[in-house]
Amino acid sequence: MEKFQFKAESQRLLDLMINSIYTHREIFLREIISNASDAIDKLAYTALTDEKVGLNRDDFAITITRDKEKGILTVSDNGIGMNRAEMEENLGTIAKSGSLGFKQTMQKQEDIDIIGQFGVGFYSAFMVASSVTVISKKYGSEKAWKWISDGADGYTIEETERATPGTDVIMTLKADTEEDKFSEFLEEYEIRNLIRKYSDYIRYPIRMEVEKSRKKEDSDDYEQYTEMETLNSMVPIWHRAKKDVTAEEYETFYREKFFDYNKPLRTIHSSAEGSVSFKALLYVPGKAPMDYYSRDFKRGLQLYSAGVMIMDNCEDLLPEYFGFVRGIVDSQDLSLNISREMLQHNRQLTIIARNIEKKIKSELKAMLDHDRENYEKFYAAFGRQLKYGTVSEYGAHKDSTKDLLLFYSAKQGKLISLKEYVESMAEGQEKIYYVTGENTDRLRKLPQVETLVNRGYDVLLCTEDVDEFIPQTLVSFMEKNFCNAASEDLGLQTEEEKKQLEEKSEEKKGFLTFVKETLGEKVKEVRLSDSLGSHPVCLTPEAGMSFEMEKYMKRMNPEFAFPIGRILELNTDHAAVKAMERAMTEDPIKAKDYAQLLMYQAQLMAELPLEDPVAYTDLVCKLMQ
Ligand code: ADP
Repeated sequence: MEKFQFKAESQRLLDLMINSIYTHREIFLREIISNASDAIDKLAYTALTDEKVGLNRDDFAITITRDKEKGILTVSDNGIGMNRAEMEENLGTIAKSGSLGFKQTMQKQEDIDIIGQFGVGFYSAFMVASSVTVISKKYGSEKAWKWISDGADGYTIEETERATPGTDVIMTLKADTEEDKFSEFLEEYEIRNLIRKYSDYIRYPIRMEVEKSRKKEDSDDYEQYTEMETLNSMVPIWHRAKKDVTAEEYETFYREKFFDYNKPLRTIHSSAEGSVSFKALLYVPGKAPMDYYSRDFKRGLQLYSAGVMIMDNCEDLLPEYFGFVRGIVDSQDLSLNISREMLQHNRQLTIIARNIEKKIKSELKAMLDHDRENYEKFYAAFGRQLKYGTVSEYGAHKDSTKDLLLFYSAKQGKLISLKEYVESMAEGQEKIYYVTGENTDRLRKLPQVETLVNRGYDVLLCTEDVDEFIPQTLVSFMEKNFCNAASEDLGLQTEEEKKQLEEKSEEKKGFLTFVKETLGEKVKEVRLSDSLGSHPVCLTPEAGMSFEMEKYMKRMNPEFAFPIGRILELNTDHAAVKAMERAMTEDPIKAKDYAQLLMYQAQLMAELPLEDPVAYTDLVCKLMQ
């Protein structure tokens, strides 16, 4: 018979399974049972709308059979089954769902560790079995198929018989050695243990024939008999009382269910009674999946109705700005055979979603207030999502997210919330100051930032594209208006100072006009400033705009990008500006060069690209000669 080879990456995993001296190999049973349970989920779901399945909720089961003589352990299910193509695809490749995470961790971590932490699915059977046979018949298909592999050199597939849909995974256990007693996996106590430990919450009965003894009627003798027994309690973890579930159980469940090697940062287990009752088990992950910020990422919670999964990623349960949350919602009040389209308009679902949103918000807030270290880890992974959420749909959701935002404080050198900013505002300070740019170090050195910090005012240093839009969306926070320190009036001048500046500007009108004419179209306006401190010049955008916005637009959609008017501010107390003013009468050509040079400097400080860097260096060299 033709032998097929495993795909390369699968072969590597397989070798790992076969050869590892592995203390946790007992997890193979959990993996095989979990696959059986998933397969039953699928058929149970089909059965809701398709009478031809002919099975009720109570008919579904996983059966364990033992053949001690031949050393064979079999796990059977009456789930959806596989056809030939699916066998090739699913059993010839590592689980697609887990493979990505697996490959990533593979390079970094010890191989052994990975297997323990992270489910590796079907292949784990090869940790205990020298040969595995899978017999399966897909629901709705006439034919059944037999897949056989001894792991090492590929597999074969041939047609076979199976009366009803479902799958048998038949494992011929490896021979016992001095240290390794594989035959233990055929013992009743061992199987009971493993099922209690790993698979207790599986929602379908896991049945096994066990030996019992009873007293014979009319005699004192005992007789042996066998009986089918259900070994698991079938209570899903989210149906158990919070106090009965250990942190480890919550964590293990998360890792296995959502294929995340990392610990969740927070677990939310809640239960609501009322117009709609439901239970939810939610997790805040510690790391964003690779594809999180791409279109490929599937947001949503798993939706169950009375223990039967009805949807894998129910998007309507989770607002986009909390899209990072993973978890499960189970409600008896939802009808089982509800369609995807109907769900969207379902009143109960809307109530549950609203409830969940509130819950997530309050848990994140609690984390921010009382578990700052973890909150910052969370924020590093998903802060951007919260920011997008704040500005999306013209700020429709800002009330859910604004308390959760963090920004980098110039004064404190760390992330702070807007509430913390306002509460630590200096006396007399009226505005929430912020600047936007590429990195906090450079922003910290901006003349406007220096001026404010010297006054004892804090400035939020924003470095993400989306930051730009947040003040515009929120307008104010705790009744304090936002102020872009780089482009708006800082509102710090007294009437007296304003007047002085006006008078001085009048006096220097000729000089200002000279600079404006020299720079021409490059600037919209040239004016004096009295808040530049030790800097000669700075460039500010025209009212209500910002250079970061211009750059952002250019990146997003160059076609719609437009240049924002530049205003050159001069500090006439600065020696360089004084030199330019003197040159205006003594050597006008040099004065024009100075004006160009200072304009270049201002552009560099504002982190704006120079349109002609060569002209800039030529100019510097010319002036040096
Ligand atoms: P995972 O369960 O993580 O997807 P596995 O390696 O455990 O990865 O299984 C691979 C795939 O094989 C499953 O996704 C499923 O499609 C199929 N499969 C495994 N066991 C069964 C089963 N008992 N019944 C039906 N399909 C199964």
